[in-house]
Amino acid sequence: MTTTVDPTLAAELEEYRTLCRSWLTEVRIPDVPLSLTERFRVLREWQGVLFDAGWIGIAWSREAGGQGLSHLHQLVFSEELARARAPQPIGLIGLDVVGPSIDRFGTVRQRTELLPRLLSGEDIWCQGFSEPDAGSDLSSLRTHAEIDGDDFVVSGQKVWTSWAHLASWCAMLVRTNAQAPKSRGISYLLVDMSSPGIVTRPLTQMTGDQEFCEVFLDRVRVPRENLVGELDGGWAIARHTLGTERAAYTLRRRVEYEVALQDAINELSACPTRDADPRRAYRVRSAVGRSHVSLRVLEAQTRKTIGRLAADTGPVPEDSVDKLLLNDIEQQVYGSIADLLGPLRVAPSGRPLGLDAARWAHDHLYSRAASIYGGTSQIQRNIIAERLLGLPRD
Ligand SMILES: Cc1cc2nc3c(=O)[nH]c(=O)nc-3n(C[C@H](O)[C@H](O)[C@H](O)COP(=O)(O)OP(=O)(O)OC[C@H]3O[C@@H](n4cnc5c(N)ncnc54)[C@H](O)[C@@H]3O)c2cc1C
Repeated sequence: MTTTVDPTLAAELEEYRTLCRSWLTEVRIPDVPLSLTERFRVLREWQGVLFDAGWIGIAWSREAGGQGLSHLHQLVFSEELARARAPQPIGLIGLDVVGPSIDRFGTVRQRTELLPRLLSGEDIWCQGFSEPDAGSDLSSLRTHAEIDGDDFVVSGQKVWTSWAHLASWCAMLVRTNAQAPKSRGISYLLVDMSSPGIVTRPLTQMTGDQEFCEVFLDRVRVPRENLVGELDGGWAIARHTLGTERAAYTLRRRVEYEVALQDAINELSACPTRDADPRRAYRVRSAVGRSHVSLRVLEAQTRKTIGRLAADTGPVPEDSVDKLLLNDIEQQVYGSIADLLGPLRVAPSGRPLGLDAARWAHDHLYSRAASIYGGTSQIQRNIIAERLLGLPRD
């Protein structure tokens, strides 16, 4: 981490880094299977191991069951995980986005009953924001809830809900006031995924994984005590959710790409035939060189991001510059390695040029989603144009 933080904190973080490193050399780091079902099981167990050892919820408050340290401590641990080729825990949606919103806006009951199980990985959470006609324009969502006695009764449809088929809880946005202006009539509900009336239908991605789902809700009863914050006040929580941890996410992903490129370099270097054909040698060098340059650009860009994380500024328009660069660079790093696989990209097997074809092809296909999830590249460009450059509104 290139720090722009005060020297005392920087020294404390280096001490913390040593602690992380030493723990990671002692623990058994799991192999992550490509099969999604197996991967889910292994990563959930891994979350339990991290939780028991005190490495989960590092920047969460102690009241919520976390470690009460700073976002930079969390970043140091995430960096060390990546460097040790150790996977992230499975419950990242809960840990990075849903949990912090419940912690900040939820009731004491919601915090004490739900958050410890979220941290340990006993409960996996999904986030039901997007709908068929409400993605970038989220405030158009139509899933609605009426109050009936002590319950909300929810009907509608969500889509692209990651892990919905395996989750026990969903943090959902629903329309509770059709008369109010679009974003003012939305509430934030915590929905038990085992409630009658919920059907999840997994969607197959081009990686072959079924990681996200369509979720259909037909008169699902949700206790009123599962409302987070004010009735019709869910938009402010959604904005907090979408902004939370974006800086931490960018910084973590940057290190993950560095590690991925280093792995590619190691695999290519160990391959005796890589330079046998001069045209192929040129392709290898260009792929690695281009990715290296892009990563240096991202590193320079994220120096200020570290400062923002340390100051806990909350979301700022500059985050969109990070997100845009991140989208492009993920696709560039994995795309340039995929190029080296040649036709094997479509039916990956074996180790062309020493590369683990199945893994690189999978990660390349997944990287196509980078310019969509968490806000598309076009939307980031709109934000940069309007809020940073002062151009007229879209
Ligand atoms: C891997 C993955 C996981 C996801 N997981 C979740 C999840 O767990 N929970 C969840 O709620 N959602 C999830 N999503 C959904 C994601 O948040 C949406 O896909 C995203 O917000 C874009 O919305 P959309 O797909 O409806 O596209 P649309 O909003 O319909 O956009 C279609 C295209 O039009 C462009 N566009 C739209 N409006 C404008 C504009 N004003 N100016 C310029 N261009 C514009 C977009 O950039 C895009 O290229 C996931 C998506 C992916 C890919």
